[in-house]
Amino acid sequence: MRASFKLFRIFGISVEAHISLLILLGLLVYIFSVTPTPYGFADFPTPYRIALSFTAAISLFISIMLHELSHSLVARRYGVKVRGIMLFIFGGVAMMEKMPKKPSEEFAVAIAGPAASVGIGVISLALSTIPNTVLSAFFTLFAYFNIILAIFNLIPAFPMDGGRILRSFLAERMSYARATKIAAEVGRALAVFMAIFGIFYNPWLILIALFVYMGASEEERLVLLENVLGKGKVGDVMTTDVKFVTPDMKVSEVTEMLLKYKHLGYPVVDNGKLVGMITLKDIINADPDARVGDVMSRDVVTVRPEVSAFEALKIMSERGFGRLPVVVDGRVVGIVSRSDLVRVKEILETLEVMGWKKRSW
Ligand code: ZN
Repeated sequence: MRASFKLFRIFGISVEAHISLLILLGLLVYIFSVTPTPYGFADFPTPYRIALSFTAAISLFISIMLHELSHSLVARRYGVKVRGIMLFIFGGVAMMEKMPKKPSEEFAVAIAGPAASVGIGVISLALSTIPNTVLSAFFTLFAYFNIILAIFNLIPAFPMDGGRILRSFLAERMSYARATKIAAEVGRALAVFMAIFGIFYNPWLILIALFVYMGASEEERLVLLENVLGKGKVGDVMTTDVKFVTPDMKVSEVTEMLLKYKHLGYPVVDNGKLVGMITLKDIINADPDARVGDVMSRDVVTVRPEVSAFEALKIMSERGFGRLPVVVDGRVVGIVSRSDLVRVKEILETLEVMGWKKRSW
């Protein structure tokens, strides 16, 4: 079963919904139908109550979509490729290839979302004065939600928009990496404060604090990693002494290789061409007499030697691979593993501290 499905396209950007959203939709309709105004419609007669609750739940997703769409459209103006907008149980996310690094551009992209939410909130607030109890109740709730959405996103901590806004301010005065470090520290401090506050007042805050704390650390880790690994090429750090396997070999032979070479995965090569990968995971449940060609993974992602080491690590993390074959014209010229890259990063950091600089790093 697919985890998400496409809803529609708007301004050339596809909007997708994760299946977790259906659970939330049901839950929201229920909450709205039992909560009194202004946060629900429990005071209305049944047909109105159901219709309003349903419309309101759908409208919340529309608000989140418009927020993300606003980020996306501004990002696209700066040449950022937007892969689409995904709506899921915790909100929405605009899937962008990479965020602009120029402070003024990052600021514009980050502020676009909250600005759209505030705009929608203010318009809805004005519409809530319509002398019609049904429409008025709906627009009041819609206004509240959009304003809360804007405020929540302005919290100065990654992965919220506020964290990016803070970094863009800092990055005007210092390096991008240092600005990220400080912004992440502010985010973590805020998360700790939020958690302590949550213990006494609202347990939900503890959950949000955890989300904020992890988001801040993840952003910092990624940027620092890119700072170190982004300048190196896969070709400089790959292992060139690659141990191959052929499709006709037996699983038991691969098991012997695993013990002998201690690599957890091997490229499967047929007539000089890469046809698959076989890893520890593939042979765990396989018959020792089975052919490698029958149990190997055919879904292989390869990289070229000139790709940056950071890019390779990103691909591995996103796709859940432990290693990538390095390929030129269908031939395997090397292999690069996640543990290799982590080690390379440690070495480079130490060398940098020692003041050692290689020309290309
Ligand atoms: Zn946002």
